[in-house]
Amino acid sequence: MRDDGRIVVTGGAGFIGSHLCERLIAADYEVLCVDNYYTGRRRNIEHLLREPRFEAMRHDVTFPLYVEADQIYNLACPASPIHYQFDPVQTLKTSVHGAINMLGLAKRVKAKILQASTSEVYGDPEVHPQPESYWGHVNPIGLRACYDEGKRAAETLFHDYHRQHGVRIKVARIFNTYGPRMHPNDGRVVSNFIVQALEGKPITLYGDGSQTRSFCYVSDLVEAIQCLMATPDQMIGPMNLGNPTEFSIRQLAELVIRMTGSTSRLEFAPLPPDDPKQRQPDITLARSALQWEPKVALEDGLKDTIGYFRWLLK
Ligand code: NAD
Ligand code: UDP
Repeated sequence: MRDDGRIVVTGGAGFIGSHLCERLIAADYEVLCVDNYYTGRRRNIEHLLREPRFEAMRHDVTFPLYVEADQIYNLACPASPIHYQFDPVQTLKTSVHGAINMLGLAKRVKAKILQASTSEVYGDPEVHPQPESYWGHVNPIGLRACYDEGKRAAETLFHDYHRQHGVRIKVARIFNTYGPRMHPNDGRVVSNFIVQALEGKPITLYGDGSQTRSFCYVSDLVEAIQCLMATPDQMIGPMNLGNPTEFSIRQLAELVIRMTGSTSRLEFAPLPPDDPKQRQPDITLARSALQWEPKVALEDGLKDTIGYFRWLLK
């Protein structure tokens, strides 16, 4: 094992977290996965349980955690609008109390800590593409606020623990990420469209489908957060991580229909409140600081993701 080898991954049984745990184990780290299984599943980490350096702990990060660690990746938080809006108070507690507890842990054991923040801190952006210097355009009392404002407050806490207590922090602003192990009922657009297409059900397009997103494949994203964690202490972020190639949601629907060979038709539904109209990361900082950029094109990533859902739905 390495000198800095004990790693805590909160939210480790989730979509991104399980891929991160897998890569950390492959890189010879000792990993403690901390998750309350709200949206994550044991199935995502089942294959890691036989690894002697991997341990899974059921724990809710809104309660204090007393363990030893050299590095902490704080990913615990439901990420899909359906799930984070189901219990908005718990979502806000997870972001805010979870950040306080994990920062307290980092302070006590002198660990480096990375926060999985989000492009949602920019809200429905008036600046396009979004650089890290943009302060955002968030409705503080809307249905998405429990997530957006929770993540914004967590960023504040990270920076204050850094300034006030010298905690070594890294803040990653993650843009839409997709890939195998997304929850089939997750409600996010890529998993929804693929599942609908494979089941021959109508593809639910919210609004007219002209809103845009930029989709990053999970292997690219996990590589980026590991690179950010490995940067010198002065590189604290925030840093945008995502794929800057932008697509309209309608283009995505058409691509999924073509790639699955589905007979599904498009069905239009009202746009949810505060749904951002466009989103694309400016990744100039990540490119220069991490010498990183995404490698997986949308069609290639979708191919693997469709393969995963075909297997899951069998
Ligand atoms: P996910 O829902 O699959 O994973 C979140 C994990 O956190 C789940 O395993 C869930 O059970 C766990 N969790 C939730 N509340 C918890 C609590 N109180 N205590 C302990 N565990 C808890 O979502 P994901 O897509 O893997 O997202 C991981 C992180 O990345 C989240 O913090 C999310 O906000 C952030 N993020 C994701 C995306 C994306 O597109 N996937 C974009 C931006 C930011
Ligand atoms: N969306 C859609 N149909 C769906 C799910 C989502 O048209 O079945 C749209 C949604 O309104 C949004 C975009 O796809 O404009 C991305 O939604 P998602 O929930 O995946 O992520 P976020 O809005 O958080 O970026």
